[in-house]
Parts: sequence; structure tokens; C-alpha cells
Amino acid sequence: MTSAVLTGIGVSAGSAAGEVARMAPTPALPEPRALTEADVPAEVAAARDALRQVAADLERRAAAVAGEAADVLSAQALMVADPALSDQVEARIRSGSDGAHAITDAFGEFRAALQNAGGYFAERVADLDDLRDRSVASLLDLPMPGLPDPGHPYVLVAADLAPADTALLDPAQVLALVTERGGPTSHTAILAKTLGLPAVVGCDSAATLTDGSSVLVDGTAGAIHVDPSPQAVTEAAEREEHRRRRSESLHGPGRTADGHPVKLLVNLGASNELAAAAAADSEGVGLFRTEFLYLDRDRAPSAEEQIASYREVFTAFAGRRVVVRTLDAGADKPLPFATAADEQNPALGVRGLRTATRDPELLETQLAAIADASAGSGAEVWVMAPMVSVPREAAEFAERVRAHGLRSAGAMVEVPAAALRADGLARVCDFLSVGTNDLAQYAFAADRTLGGLAEFLDPWQPALLDLIRMAAEAGARQDRPVGVCGEAAADPALAVVLVGLGVTSLSAAPSCLSGVRTALAERTLEDCRHLAGIALAAPDATTARTKVLAETAS
Ligand code: PEP
Ligand code: MG
Repeated sequence: MTSAVLTGIGVSAGSAAGEVARMAPTPALPEPRALTEADVPAEVAAARDALRQVAADLERRAAAVAGEAADVLSAQALMVADPALSDQVEARIRSGSDGAHAITDAFGEFRAALQNAGGYFAERVADLDDLRDRSVASLLDLPMPGLPDPGHPYVLVAADLAPADTALLDPAQVLALVTERGGPTSHTAILAKTLGLPAVVGCDSAATLTDGSSVLVDGTAGAIHVDPSPQAVTEAAEREEHRRRRSESLHGPGRTADGHPVKLLVNLGASNELAAAAAADSEGVGLFRTEFLYLDRDRAPSAEEQIASYREVFTAFAGRRVVVRTLDAGADKPLPFATAADEQNPALGVRGLRTATRDPELLETQLAAIADASAGSGAEVWVMAPMVSVPREAAEFAERVRAHGLRSAGAMVEVPAAALRADGLARVCDFLSVGTNDLAQYAFAADRTLGGLAEFLDPWQPALLDLIRMAAEAGARQDRPVGVCGEAAADPALAVVLVGLGVTSLSAAPSCLSGVRTALAERTLEDCRHLAGIALAAPDATTARTKVLAETAS
């Protein structure tokens, strides 16, 4: 008997078998209840009490964990304890709503404000929805939505995962992650990679999975086998064990089975990631996202502050390469002082390097700070610009970088025009780096923050691979290295394809490097080219992935 197979997008490699445990359901909102004048004080008190209890619960949970998880939970506790929120709830009860509806509507107002702010803020909407559901559950005395606790390790299945839950997720209890929604760049995908858990997202049919059902999750193939045979489970476990042993035995610079070198680098996006990034077995940083210094502020950080921060990173990577990406403000990374609030299409507006045309000082200060911090640090510092569209921009950027005494200037290939005319870019700068997250967004006209468009944002899309191939071939013609630093580089099977397309370095989350190193070590360069040909010839992303995986498994 063959078991049913549900398919989604595999976003974190590996496989695991176990019993499903679902997130507790969102509490259903009861029919509105009419209040009498006499009911109002008790209703207000109960609603305020529910908000207080949720805040206290989050604070308790924050105190029980450390690091980023504690920060996420404390921020959530602050949001729900905001007096503006409880005042709103009280006002709504006084004008006739019952407590549950007053809470829901008050959160709805805050939600709309965040959604309208767009980008990074709109992505925080899931946090508010989670707080609303917790507050309503607390008021109605229903089970708190959130992570299940079946008393044994389990495969976590959810419609989507809220940051408050993922922050608390215990990797010793969770075997794999499956979500109905979400795309390759979703919070779930990033978290799964960080924790090294197999994960499949964007799997609509996971809605049919119930608590206790037995599944085998294949995060490499993007498949969930329901009621797998004992033999399938054993074989998957053996493959995992082989993969684990193989990756533990491999160290050092990336190379294919026949010795073709592929630099393996890490992505670095926040100061609290520095220790893990520096400890990883890598040849350096392939993407240092400097935005973290600028976020949540109303003006740019001073030169001194930037120098201190960059120096910390460069010193940690002395003897290795650090590719610094200059400020990428706008669209999914809005900054009040650098991006216009009135653009109708911020993703198509003044963002990335274009910001520097409007505010040259911003880039000048940053380049001066990078140059200052790099002096004597021992790191090999390269600098690249985000969102380059035409060779003129790359040439002007390279000139400004070199004017600061920095030796290596590069352009990110994130816009289809840049890939189509990559020779022009490569001629005027020292290297190219393909940002597949944005390149997919612009190639498919699909907002990268919308989970519902995950199919288009799948990095296995053959049209995306065509654009990467163009950039890599241009780099080879102009004798310039071409790396990939988007999420695509983290997928071991796809990494092999990227090398076959001509990519010379791969940059990903530290936890993903050993999987990528192992996959490369198992293929010759010729194998990689053959697999790239198979992916390019496929009609769609799913076929490309399936055919390449079938070929590598044989
Ligand atoms: C990308 O777009 O692929 C990329 C690496 O940059 P970011 O995700 O920071 O926009
Ligand atoms: Mg980008």
C-alpha cells in the first residue's frame, strides 16, 4: 500500500518521522451579546483583566527563556499592556460591544494601522493577531492558542506560525515543521533553517492532518508522507544518519567532488548573530545586512556608532572576507528618515542604492565608516550595493567605494534588468552577488512578503534560474566572481544547481552550510552542470526540484 503524499515547498532540508500535533485552534468569536448598563463595569473589568493576564503570561515566558526569544516575548507583552489598547477596549464596551468583540475590534484598528504602514510593519500583523487570539481566549476561559504539548516529540503542524510561538519552540521536542501558509522567505522557513529542523511550508492540504496521525516529513523534497510504511521510515532515518555522519566528517572550504572550489560564506543580519556566524566553518561573510543598525530609529546612526559596529564584525572575521552590503532601505525595510512615505509602490520606488541618489550623505557616511573600521582589522572587506538596475549605477557606486580606499566594489543582481545586462555591471565593478529573494520578487511581479504568492517566489523557478545563469555567465566572461546570497543558496540540492549554472560562492545562514558543503562534495562540477540543465529544462519549480532530487537520489 502506498501512503498519501501531501506536497508543499521544502524550505529546510532533512527528514523526520513522528506524530502530528497541531497548534491549538484560534478561539471562535461568539455571537455579539447585548449588554445592559449594569453589565458594563464588570465587562470592562473582565476585558482589562484578560489583557493583563496575557501580558503577565508573556512576561513569565520571557523570563523563562534567553536571547532573541526573550526579546520577542517581552515586545509582545509590551504591546498587549499598552494602555492605549485597554482604553480602546473600554471605550468600545461603553458604546455597546461585549468584551470579546471590543477586544477583537480594538486589535483590528491597530492591525489596520500596521498593515497600512507596509513592509516590515505589515509583517508584524501576525504578532497582533496572536495577541488578539490570546486575549479573547483568556476572556472566554478557552485553551490558550499556541504550541501543543503532547508529552513526546512531535511534528508541528500549523496554519502559520506566529513569532511568539516559534520563539518558544523547543528543538528537542519538535521533529519537523509543516505549515499550510508561508513561503520560502517566511518566518517559519528562516527559523527552521536556524534550528536545523526539516520544514515544508505553503502546504494547503496540511489542513487535513489531525493530531496523532503518523507522517514522514521530507524537507528536501517538500513532501509529507501520511501513514508511511515502517520501511520508508527506516530508509529515511538511514539517509539522515548517513547525511549527518557525512557532514560531520567534512570541514573547510567548499568544493565539488573533483575539487572545484566554491566559497561557502555566512549571511549576517543582526549583532546578536555575530558569535554564531563567526564560529561557523566558513570563509567569511557573503552578505552583511547593515540595516539592523538603522532600523527602529528616526535618524541614521552616527559615523562613530557605525565604525564601532562594523569594527566588531571585521575583527571577528580577521583573516576572512566580509562582504558589506550598503544600506538597503525601502519596501520591506522602510526607514522613516530614508524612504518616502507617499510612494504608491514602495518596492518599485526609491529603495536600495536609489536612496543614495536622493540622500548622498547617507552613503558617504556609511562608506567612510566602513573604510575606517576596515583599516587594520585584518578582514578582507568587500562592499556591494543593493538594488542596482543599470551599469551607470554600478560604475558610480564603484567609483565612490574606491574613493574611500576600499578595494573591492560589487553590485547585487536583484532586478531582472541587472541580470539581463550583467556584462555591463561586471565590467565596471569587481564582483556580482545575486539576491534571489528580490530577484524572484521582481521577475515574477510577486510581493516577497505575501505567503499566498509562494509558488512564484520558489527559488527553483526555472525563469529565476535563467536569470542567475545569465549573471554567472557574464561574470565568467568578464572574469568576475558571482555569488548567490539569497535564500536559494541555503538549499543543498539547489546549491548544486547554482554551482552548475556558474555561481562561484554561496552565502547562507550558518546552520545551512554543512548541508550545502556535503551536497557539493558528492557531485563533480560536470554533475552540477548536468543537474542545472535538468532544472533549466523543467516547465515549473516543482518539476525542477522533483527531477533534480530524483536524479541525485539515483
Ligand atoms: C535578496 O534580495 O535575495 C537579498 C539577499 O537581500 P535581502 O533579502 O536583504 O533583500
Ligand atoms: Mg534584496
